[in-house]
Amino acid sequence: MNNIYLDYAATTPVRKEILEAYKKLLDISYANSDSIHALGSEAGKYLTAARKQIANLLNVKEKEIVFTSGSTEANNLVIKGVAMAYKGRGKHIITTSIEHPSLLDSCKWLEENLDFEVTYLPVNKEGKIELDDLKKAIREDTILVSIMAVNNELGSINDIYKLSKYVKENSIAMFHTDATQAMGKENIDYSYVDLYNFSGHKIYSLKGSGVLVKKEKVRIVPLISGGQQEFNLRGGTSNYHNHVMCSKALRIGLENHQKEYRHVKEINKYLITKLNETFDDLIINSPMDASPYILNFAFKNKRGEVIVNALSNAGIYISSKSACSSYSKDYSKSVYAVTRDEFTSKNSLRVSFSYLTSKEEIDIFVKELKRIHDELKG
Ligand code: PMP
Repeated sequence: MNNIYLDYAATTPVRKEILEAYKKLLDISYANSDSIHALGSEAGKYLTAARKQIANLLNVKEKEIVFTSGSTEANNLVIKGVAMAYKGRGKHIITTSIEHPSLLDSCKWLEENLDFEVTYLPVNKEGKIELDDLKKAIREDTILVSIMAVNNELGSINDIYKLSKYVKENSIAMFHTDATQAMGKENIDYSYVDLYNFSGHKIYSLKGSGVLVKKEKVRIVPLISGGQQEFNLRGGTSNYHNHVMCSKALRIGLENHQKEYRHVKEINKYLITKLNETFDDLIINSPMDASPYILNFAFKNKRGEVIVNALSNAGIYISSKSACSSYSKDYSKSVYAVTRDEFTSKNSLRVSFSYLTSKEEIDIFVKELKRIHDELKG
């Protein structure tokens, strides 16, 4: 039986070095990092060192690093927390129609509960936000603009530098980007970005970890009260083992980025060539200049879910849409935006790659996909 994982955008396995370091740290340190005794202050030192390392890697201040449980929490914290802190200035938020559900549902919550108005920007045929659309949407009472860096279904990359620069130079709004699919993969210039976040479990660290970078001047009302942890933004005993591993994973990821990026780009190209050679009823939905870590495609007449299940039975693991929206019955908004086709957007397949992915795995994947495709012919 195969065991071919091609769903790295949903989550990654833990790097061996991280797993070893995690086991070791769990063994030697277990105190509460806020306890004032020696064991507590030792634990606190691990947490401080992790924060320092991430701040250095991202070229921000230590107090701008807020550890979270991942991007769902960070997106909730940013959208709701900024809205509550600045609602006196205005109650208008701009985001896009293709954000992650954790961000879209947070916006919906503000519309339903705090009378906020949210503008959802459309995306163009490349799955990107147009600056002109943002210019038209921005108002005097806009307090926050949130645009994702890399889309999790298509891999389309937004020009975050250009968009954030415009917002910061022409409005009072904060600029946030969900960098979950970008961190350690795409080189994004965050100079004009006030807030951005990523998850540890997408960069080969443990599940339930993540980071929100929050520029010092930005105010946020916390969602979790009850402790001074994370600069009063997230009460509760620190999961510092996870935070330490997240900092280590980011360091290793950034150190190896160029080499791993080149490999993934080659794998992506290899798969596209093989798919085009093997099938004549296949549509690639990811734009040409998408992040190579994600490839979205569909067959003209085949149900995506059936293919994902058949591949899974053969020991090959990919996604139909993204893992986060795979239970939703409706179509993928991201895929619809670039294809304008309902069937395609309900039946798209997402393959996502890693430095661990080999050409041999791709060969087996395409062979199995062909077998399943032909069996489904009737
Ligand atoms: N944003 C994006 C773009 C994502 O891809 C994901 C994960 N699928 C999330 C947010 C949520 O992250 P987490 O699973 O760490 O809560």
